Amino acid sequence: MDHVSRDAIRTRGHHALSVRWRAVFGRAARKIPLDAGFSCPNRDGTLSKGGCIFCNARGAGTGLARLPLAEQWARWREARQARWGDVALVGYLQAFSNTHGPARRLARVLDELSHIPDLEGLCLGTRPDCLDHEKLALLAAFPAKELWLELGLQSCNPATLARVNRGHGPESFAEAVRAARDHGLKVCAHLMAGLPGEDERHWDATVDFVASLPVAGVKFHNLHVARGSLLETHWRIGGYEPIALERYAAWLARALARLSPEVVVHRLAADPAHGELLAPEWAGDKRRVHEAIRRAAAASGLRQGDLWPPAQG
Ligand code: SF4
Repeated sequence: MDHVSRDAIRTRGHHALSVRWRAVFGRAARKIPLDAGFSCPNRDGTLSKGGCIFCNARGAGTGLARLPLAEQWARWREARQARWGDVALVGYLQAFSNTHGPARRLARVLDELSHIPDLEGLCLGTRPDCLDHEKLALLAAFPAKELWLELGLQSCNPATLARVNRGHGPESFAEAVRAARDHGLKVCAHLMAGLPGEDERHWDATVDFVASLPVAGVKFHNLHVARGSLLETHWRIGGYEPIALERYAAWLARALARLSPEVVVHRLAADPAHGELLAPEWAGDKRRVHEAIRRAAAASGLRQGDLWPPAQG
């Protein structure tokens, strides 16, 4: 374990991204959301038109996709610096699937980003089935101090993935993680707790599955009901009940303990877009959620890495 993760775990109980970024950039860092106008194969008809049941037509987009990336950057930069002072700025391509389509499109976007002088890092979200050697090589060549490839898995259970209409299986995720590692890229896995039909055994299995792969980071989400998603319809007719906060906090405390201390924790809970959250109500109160997780971890006496690696058999 390096000293950065050891110190972070000693003071916070987990290896937080903010701590890593202070070490990488020499100061605090903040993300700037960028929308390059990509779509998603699970929405544009390549795989399906419905999308994952928890996603809505906005797909985490900023609504600024019509503007050049440098212009989007300039709009956000001022506000970030006015609020946070001298911080390192990291571009975040979050909307939809940012490697969908031909490699030349990704190459154009990365070229645009490489000309933004104060962009010091990049996080790029996509699906595991939207990557190939050419795209991974483009990402690996991007000139940033830090690049994270964020890949959605949500669950390692094939039945759950089918139920939520992910359009890919766990093996596709595992292959993409190994291929990214072979290109020297750091992968951050997205996991969701409280998926329909899942209990804590499914959750633990998903955490252990990710912990067994060369994943460098994890982003935890509690499944919430977003306005305009298919899940909203299920929830309105009583077909889905979100996970309770105390339960989520206990699941998270255990999940952190099951991860290697080297894994960087990007997020402890979902961050619903303004005006989109329908349920559970607690998901809109980040401080309350973090406090509940802190208390659950303290009650269990567990810190990140305490139950890692999992016992065999
Ligand atoms: S893969 Fe991502 S963008 Fe596509 S439908 Fe699912 S959640 Fe939405």
